[in-house]
Amino acid sequence: MSSLPHTAPSWAVRRTRLPLIGLECAVCPSDRLTIGDGRFRAVSDGRLFSAWLLVDCVACGQTGKLRVHRRVPVRSLPADLLDGYWNDSPSLAVETLLDPSFAQRNRFELDWDGRWELHAPPVLEDQGPLRIAVAFDDPVPVRPERLIAHGLGISRGEVVRRVEADVPLKRRTKQGFSFVLAEPDL
Ligand SMILES: [Zn+2]
Repeated sequence: MSSLPHTAPSWAVRRTRLPLIGLECAVCPSDRLTIGDGRFRAVSDGRLFSAWLLVDCVACGQTGKLRVHRRVPVRSLPADLLDGYWNDSPSLAVETLLDPSFAQRNRFELDWDGRWELHAPPVLEDQGPLRIAVAFDDPVPVRPERLIAHGLGISRGEVVRRVEADVPLKRRTKQGFSFVLAEPDL
């Protein structure tokens, strides 16, 4: 009962595809938008700079735009960042999409449904309590209780009985955490 936990290989949460944007389309009933390949619209008068990320409705393809910068001094932005907006940098588009302040400003939530996976090496259970760390390669909001149940192939009730985590089990998190899995009750 008092044996120290062994450390098992870490788990990783990572995206399989980019998340969708939970916002209503301007013309059809769909409420999911995508950034597609990642395109920006940038405008500058040489002194002030504005940029939008272009988004397409997944149902009808209607294009809209979400604000990234609004009339900020050109000189306040690094040159490589400006280049990224002018040249539709795909990595900058992803970075913008996943930036929590961008989501907050444009009042949307990301929809990660079916767009991520848990990489969880098989757990060998006959060596006493196990400590497992979960790393987030992408900021996918998950409930630890569900994630652990899925990763271990056990029920959520069993997770509650056997798992001690360093975060609340039922509250969604996007940040790495670790947990200790006790041996099964006999
Ligand atoms: Zn639409």
